[in-house]
Amino acid sequence: MTSLWNDEEAAQCSGDLAQRIYSSRLLGREPALVLHGGGNTSVKVRETNVFGEDDDILHIKGSGRDLETIDATGFSPCRMAHLLRLAQLPALSDSDMARELKCSMTDPSAPAPSVESILHASIPHKFVDHTHADALIAIMNTPDGAERVRELYGDRVMILPYVMPGFKLARLCAETFPKEATAQTVGIVLMQHGLFTFGESARSAYERMIELVTLAEDYLDRRGAWKIAVSSAPPPPDQRDDIAGLRRDLSSVAGKPMILMTHAAEKCAAFARRDDLATISQQGPATPDHVLRTKRLPMIGRDLDGYRIAYEEYFRAHASTVRGELQMLDAAPRVILDSSLGMITAGPTAKDAVIAGDVYRHTIEIILRATALAGYRALSADDLFDVEYWDLEQAKVRSAAAPRVFAGEIALVTGAASGIGKACVDSLLRRGAAVAGLDISPAITEMHKRPDYAGFVCDLTDESQIRRALESTVRAFGGLDMLVLNAGIFPKATSLASLTSSAWREVMQINLDANLAIMREAYPLLKLAPKGGRIVVIGSKNVPAPGPGVAAYSASKAALNQLARVAALEWGADGIRINTIHPNAVFDTALWTEEVLTARARSYGVTVEEYKTKNVLGVEVRSQDVAELAAEMCGPLFAKTTAAQVPVDGGNERVI
Ligand code: ZN
Repeated sequence: MTSLWNDEEAAQCSGDLAQRIYSSRLLGREPALVLHGGGNTSVKVRETNVFGEDDDILHIKGSGRDLETIDATGFSPCRMAHLLRLAQLPALSDSDMARELKCSMTDPSAPAPSVESILHASIPHKFVDHTHADALIAIMNTPDGAERVRELYGDRVMILPYVMPGFKLARLCAETFPKEATAQTVGIVLMQHGLFTFGESARSAYERMIELVTLAEDYLDRRGAWKIAVSSAPPPPDQRDDIAGLRRDLSSVAGKPMILMTHAAEKCAAFARRDDLATISQQGPATPDHVLRTKRLPMIGRDLDGYRIAYEEYFRAHASTVRGELQMLDAAPRVILDSSLGMITAGPTAKDAVIAGDVYRHTIEIILRATALAGYRALSADDLFDVEYWDLEQAKVRSAAAPRVFAGEIALVTGAASGIGKACVDSLLRRGAAVAGLDISPAITEMHKRPDYAGFVCDLTDESQIRRALESTVRAFGGLDMLVLNAGIFPKATSLASLTSSAWREVMQINLDANLAIMREAYPLLKLAPKGGRIVVIGSKNVPAPGPGVAAYSASKAALNQLARVAALEWGADGIRINTIHPNAVFDTALWTEEVLTARARSYGVTVEEYKTKNVLGVEVRSQDVAELAAEMCGPLFAKTTAAQVPVDGGNERVI
């Protein structure tokens, strides 16, 4: 591992806190050191308070903040005197500790200080860095891990046995450090947990971290346990029904819809197919930090009932030894290793599934390296249970906000790169759905950069592309719950007498045939939706009230309308409901080019402006108005409605 320290960049950061931020971000850039909010850093400074007195302050990373992006607002300023007094207490529950940490702050609006704050305070050096470095963890998580660490670092580090993070660990460190640390000591190894380094400058603490981790990498390399060769055949091309079926069952165990993410990396697939998987994957996570993101154990294969029963037994066996009421977490796995599907991660949101994936990819490397070194050994089930059912975590479960209406659900929108489709994507994302956007425009792939969005280029007139897009959607999120059929074209006005058959066929192909194909291909997936499948058809006012000059368009939308009504009849027994919106005069869409607008206005004998608000209410109808109704049609408001046709047109005299 190379140091990313750059003297020029560092020189721009004046003051202790700025230096602290700079090197914290360097640590955050290395996923083999810290992942998704893992690790923490601090700096001790003397400040003058409002009374003009000197105060020793520990600026420590706030709980849940990410080192890669941290700034001054991500640090919590805590009074050292308060923290050091806490370290002397014989015992303190972690929830009392969390409250005391907040009380020690000089700024009540700062984030809650890291649970490792007292530990940082008890290390007498100015800058303290803490990571969960993969290479070191691979060495520690072996049967003779402590001896190996001693052999590797000699007396440059102090080694502490595994103790649950929180007050007990802080107290152990506060007691041991003055007794065991020497002038040579540059770090502390917490067995099965991670590494602390420290120094009088941001650079020395950071570079000691890099140096110690590099030594661990070299140690593994010399023993043939660093580079792990993998090879695996690519997955079969059509697994979407299989994955969606697994998601339906897993959601039922979880008691809520879940997102499932399939990981394409060869390393993951190869791991899922190993002969010794049942041994090496069932020891436990690599560090306590990982327990909360991936649960205690991955599921091998698809025996969800077996997994659920084992989890409930594990809970019952340990919960009785813990004081106080514990609320059992859902018994669904967060990592699935299957010889045919490869590696899949699950979570109540797409972000959770991404984090579980990132964490488990690192776990795989740690397991394989430890296995190559001397055999992988994780924490005991008791220790893992203490972390999973930590009282701080239970408090989070109790105080969690109600999930958003479409949390854990997946929507697909066609024609999503602009206009009504784009607005539908936004409305669905706002309600917590993971959304796949399809469009012929390549802009679709870059429309949002967030874990709950995936854009796929798709020509809907090509059925193989539709199948591929559905496969990609299911690999990204696990299934399909909601389908918004929005893509369509509105051709130039043409009288019947001059309407060519090829122009007619082009409109039918996109507005009608493509929707039949996507509905048919999506049907097996919608049938597996945990809360029932939903389809919303973006129809047109032209269905109830056709206009002259748009025969192909009106006929295509009328046929689509009948298709939707038949689908409602045929698929109602599968719990799939399908409702239609008839928008009119929505002008902020790609259909309404200036040319089309002018032509339509002329055919009605009015100006473009009059044409835009020509409705009973005299209002302009926007894409967002249509999108909000489309999203609501997928929600509880329309739970008992199918085959409805609702206009969004400001009131049209010919329709009324
Ligand atoms: Zn830690």
